[in-house]
Amino acid sequence: MDKSEKPRRFVIDINRKWCKDCGICIAYCPAHVFEAGGRGEPVIARPDDCTGCQLCVLRCPDLAVDVEEAPAAAGGEGVGAEPVHAGQ
Ligand code: SF4
Ligand code: SF4
Repeated sequence: MDKSEKPRRFVIDINRKWCKDCGICIAYCPAHVFEAGGRGEPVIARPDDCTGCQLCVLRCPDLAVDVEEAPAAAGGEGVGAEPVHAGQ
């Protein structure tokens, strides 16, 4: 059995056409999912660590981030992540 590969619970998508590499999502992600690339652009380095908190979605000034439940998680057992209402 393969225990090292756990199913990904969330799918993170960055719209590169809208992203201006400000780094806000990198700074706010509490799970350190992102790393900065050579130009400061967010690199999704640890997608399996995403808790689905939506902070990156809420904080991105250009609406360039989308985080959704992975299909397997959406139809399966409880996800466990609580929604965070940061700011407004
Ligand atoms: S917060 Fe939005 S615009 Fe800024 S780096 Fe992240 S995805 Fe790009
Ligand atoms: S939803 Fe939360 S944990 Fe996932 S990448 Fe965005 S800020 Fe990080």
